[in-house]
Amino acid sequence: MSFNIEKTDKKRVVIIGGGFGGLRLALDLVDSDYQVVLVDKNNYNQFQPLIYQVATSGLYPSSISFPFRKLFDKSKNIYFRMAELRGVYADKNMIQTSIGKIEYDYLVLAFGSRTNYFNNANIEHAAMPMKFVDESMGLRNALLSNFERSTTTSSQDEKESLLNVVIVGGGPSGVEVAGAIAEMKHYVLPKDYPDLDANMMNIFLVQASDRLLPAMSEKASKKSLKYLEKMGVNVMLNTHVNDYKDNKVILGNGQTINSKTFIWVCGVKVPTFSGIRPEQIGPGNRLLVDQYNKLLGSDNIFAIGDCALMQSDANFPKGHPQMAQPSIQQGALLAKNLKALLKDKPLKAFTYKDLGSMATIGKNKAVADIFGLKLTGPIAWMLWMLVHLRSILGVKNKLSVLMDWTWSYFTYDKSNRMILTAFTPQIMREREELERKSHWGDLDPNKNR
Ligand SMILES: Cc1cc2nc3c(=O)[nH]c(=O)nc-3n(C[C@H](O)[C@H](O)[C@H](O)COP(=O)(O)OP(=O)(O)OC[C@H]3O[C@@H](n4cnc5c(N)ncnc54)[C@H](O)[C@@H]3O)c2cc1C
Repeated sequence: MSFNIEKTDKKRVVIIGGGFGGLRLALDLVDSDYQVVLVDKNNYNQFQPLIYQVATSGLYPSSISFPFRKLFDKSKNIYFRMAELRGVYADKNMIQTSIGKIEYDYLVLAFGSRTNYFNNANIEHAAMPMKFVDESMGLRNALLSNFERSTTTSSQDEKESLLNVVIVGGGPSGVEVAGAIAEMKHYVLPKDYPDLDANMMNIFLVQASDRLLPAMSEKASKKSLKYLEKMGVNVMLNTHVNDYKDNKVILGNGQTINSKTFIWVCGVKVPTFSGIRPEQIGPGNRLLVDQYNKLLGSDNIFAIGDCALMQSDANFPKGHPQMAQPSIQQGALLAKNLKALLKDKPLKAFTYKDLGSMATIGKNKAVADIFGLKLTGPIAWMLWMLVHLRSILGVKNKLSVLMDWTWSYFTYDKSNRMILTAFTPQIMREREELERKSHWGDLDPNKNR
C-alpha cells in the first residue's frame, strides 16, 4: 500500500486530521500554490458539538458528518487519503501511516485529542466515551438495548442496573447528554415502553468540582444545575468516581451506583506518536508550539487545535481551551502563514478571539456566555440552535437537523431509535453461532427457556 500521489513542483503540505482545525486549513489552501494531502483515519468530518444528540436518538449520524471527498471533489490541489498516523521521521521530512510513508515539505498535526480515563483500566473497559460519531452510535445502541433488556428481566436488581445511567463529567458534554437522556426518560420511555416504570430510571451526573460548566460563568453553572435538577437528574458535585466493578460505579465517598450505562465525558488527552521528542510535549501530552503554531525545535512541523499547546498568547498563558474556535482560528491563520512562507513574507502571531461558549440542557433550556452577556432560557436556546445550525457542513445536513429539531420541538419525539450495528458477513456468522450456543435456549416448548 502507498499514497500514490505524484510529487509535483509545488511544495507539499501534509495535514494529519480533518477536524475543526485541519479542515479549516485544508479549505483555506484550496487553489493555493501548495499540493495538500489531507490524512484522516475516517473518511468524513464530524461535528462533535452535536454528537450527544446522535447518542440520544435525536439526530442521524449522517446529519453531523460530511465526507471529505465530497468537500474537495472540485479542488485540484487537495488529495485525501484515509489512513492513520503512526510516527514522524522529522529528520527525513517523512511520516509513517497505516497505508505507508509520505514525504512532506510542511507537516501539520491536527489530530485532536482522545478520551482520558486517567489510567484506570476498569473504567476504560466499562465506560462509554462520547468523543466520535461511531462512539455515540455505540452509546445509543447500549442505551436502547438496555431499555429492551430491562423489559425482559425479572430481576429487580438487573432492571435497576439496566435503567440507571451514570454520567461522569459536568462540562458541556456531560450537562447536555444528561439533559437529553432526562428528556428520553420523560417523553420516550413512557410511550415506547408502557410496561416499564420510568420512575425506576435514575440519571446521575457526577462532577468532581464544586460546580457544573466550570469554564463558564457562575450564572451559567447555577442555571444549568437548576434546569437539570428540575428535569430529575441527580447532580453530585464534589464527587469523584474511583472505579467500576461488577456493574457498579464506585464513588470516592465509598457509595456505589448500580449501572450498566456508564458514560465517561470528563476529560481528554492527546495521543503520542513516535518521533515526537519528550521536550516537545507539554501537560496533557499537548504538543508545545510557538506563536505561529510551529512545533518547538522544528522548522517545518506545525500543530493546531486540541493537540497543540501555545503558551505565548498573553491572555492564555496555560494554552487555549480545547474547543472548536481555537482550532478553527489556528487553522485559518496557519493557511495565511503558509501562503506567506511561499512569498517570503513575515508570519503573523496567533491571538485567540474568544467568541464565548454555550450549552443546552433541553427544550427552551440553555445557557450562553456570549458578547459579554450571560443569557439563559429560550433566548440562549434559540441562539445555541442558530450557531450550531450555521456551523454544520452542507445544506442537506442543515435542513435535516432543522427538520429533526422542529419535529421533536412539537412532538417531543426522537426519531432515530433503531439499534443498528454494522457487521461484515463473517462477524454476523460468528455472532449467530455465539448466540445459538448461549442465548437461544432449549427448543422444548415445555421448558421456559
Ligand atoms: C462530545 C463533544 C462535544 C463538544 N462540544 C463542543 C462545543 O459545543 N463547542 C466547542 O467549541 N467545542 C466542543 N467540543 C470540543 C471540540 O470538538 C474540539 O475542541 C475540536 O474538535 C478540536 O478540533 P481539532 O481540529 O483539534 O480536532 P478534531 O476536531 O477532534 O479532529 C481531529 C481529527 O483527526 C483525526 N485523527 C485522529 N487521530 C488520527 C490519526 N492518528 N491519524 C489520522 N487522523 C487522525 C480524527 O479522525 C479527526 O477527524 C466538543 C467535543 C466533544 C467530544
